[in-house]
Amino acid sequence: MKTRIFFSILLTTVFTLLVASGAVIAMLYGQFSADMQHELMTEARYVAGAVNNGVRSLADIGRNAPHRLTLIAADGRVLYDNSANASEMASHSERPEVRAALETGEGESSRLSDTLRLRTFYAAVRLQNGDVVRLASMTRGPLGLLASSVPGIVCVLILAIIAALYVARRLTRALMEPVNAINLDDPLSNDTYDELSPLLLRLDHQNRRIAEQLNELTAKQRELDCITSQMAEGLIVIGGGKNILFANRSARALFDALDSQEQRTLHFMEVCRAAPWLEAVEGAFAGQKVETRLTQRGRVYQLTASPAGEREGKTSAVILFFVDITEREQAESLRREFAANVSHELKTPLTSIMGYAELMERGLARPEDMQGFAGRIRSEAARLLELIRDVITLSQLDEQDLRNRFTEVDLRELCNRVLDELAAKAAQYQVTLHCDGPSRVVSGLKETLHELLFNLCDNAIVYNRPGGQVTVTVGGSEQAPVLTVADTGVGIPPEHQPRIFERFYRVDASRARADSGGAPGTGGGSGLGLAIVKHAARLHGASIELESHVGKGTTLRVIWPEPPVKDRSEPAESAVPAAEASC
Ligand code: ADP
Repeated sequence: MKTRIFFSILLTTVFTLLVASGAVIAMLYGQFSADMQHELMTEARYVAGAVNNGVRSLADIGRNAPHRLTLIAADGRVLYDNSANASEMASHSERPEVRAALETGEGESSRLSDTLRLRTFYAAVRLQNGDVVRLASMTRGPLGLLASSVPGIVCVLILAIIAALYVARRLTRALMEPVNAINLDDPLSNDTYDELSPLLLRLDHQNRRIAEQLNELTAKQRELDCITSQMAEGLIVIGGGKNILFANRSARALFDALDSQEQRTLHFMEVCRAAPWLEAVEGAFAGQKVETRLTQRGRVYQLTASPAGEREGKTSAVILFFVDITEREQAESLRREFAANVSHELKTPLTSIMGYAELMERGLARPEDMQGFAGRIRSEAARLLELIRDVITLSQLDEQDLRNRFTEVDLRELCNRVLDELAAKAAQYQVTLHCDGPSRVVSGLKETLHELLFNLCDNAIVYNRPGGQVTVTVGGSEQAPVLTVADTGVGIPPEHQPRIFERFYRVDASRARADSGGAPGTGGGSGLGLAIVKHAARLHGASIELESHVGKGTTLRVIWPEPPVKDRSEPAESAVPAAEASC
């Protein structure tokens, strides 16, 4: 715009200058011609007067005359000419100035010649004898005049253009200054050209509309952020350029690139390179709904990618949804592992039983071995039974909500009962049993707590040494009792300690528990005992503490927590999470 204004002013100025100069030249030339004609006529009159009165002869005047002097007879013949041979000149009777002089006494005219470069002025006066005296003066024509003034004109033009440039620049700057100074943020505050007022009003109106729409958009964005940030599931929206348009808090926490994204547009490939991610996004852009699994940051996610929005027959956006299925996957794999373990554990005693039974059936067993075989069959069957019982107990603890069947259970009474039940086994393993501590009543399932204590004491006897001791102590406070089972047995190596509560985990898997006379310290079971203890403790809200030293013994504590102190001053509503409250 600035350049346009500048050139407009410049061109207008130059054009005006040229037109004005042309007009002035034309006017001056006209005036000059009139003066010339007038002077020539005056001179012709003087010459005619002098010749009429016989003061001077025409030849005498013609010799020194500054102009061409011609004497023409009434019939048009040239009688005298001071610049040419009169006898060779053609008749002048048809010349306008001569004809006018012959008719009226005086005549004048002017003619352009030499391709308009020269102009000749004529003034003719009739003498008393009827002849006509004519004066002629030659001067440059308008074009000739123009041509002769070219250098001067060029100089003037250059000066004029320089002046026009300067003026155009100054004017442009002066014109643009108020326009450049316009405050677009607050158009109505500007003091500028009146002609700009409608534009500024419109600008102000549009500014206000944009501000309103921006506010609306920001509010909607905040609303969306607020809703999606509360989602545990990850949500990502990918736009047409395959760039990330939106990622909620859970999704951002999943990928480093999104977490550190600062106003930068990210291509989906910059976020993750895992095959399921790439396949899901590409598949959804190809118009399919893709469901796959993605492992990210050690957790497993079910990833659902769906096409959303179409432009020109192509998917323009894709929505990705991440659901954390780690626990579900783990539970599933635990279930599979458990089923495999149970089948394996069932198979071992059954194979044994089958083997002995087959020997007996075919009569291959000697009579004196029969009793031993029957004993083995019985102990294997007992092992089977124990395993099945443990599996049932575990599945009950896993799947049923048993809390509604809780009653008051005295731990001390339970302790006495368990030790009574295990007295024979303790004698067999040459282990002494002790019970200590006051009565402590807890809310719980009597049979489950019995199972818990029985398993702990059973292990303390089985993994003991001859002459060893098992001490069961009921302690802790009334609100938070502690049940301790300590033995002086083989102990558990430190590397096994974190795993002994897992299902089917045994420190030495080659050891099989032999209820019917296994040597002390060498017994082994199904590997479910401590898993049941863990579940039973969890059901009662108690935790387990293990302390064990190889060759010295093991102490296991079941600890009930202190009941929470209720703060009545706090209203229940204050438990609303902070993030939720801020929405
Ligand atoms: P199991 O039926 O084999 O006894 P548990 O789940 O009861 O299975 O115990 C898991 C493993 O922990 C056992 O195989 C045993 O090696 C070890 N263990 C448990 N209790 C004791 C203990 N009191 N002393 C030494 N080792 C123990």
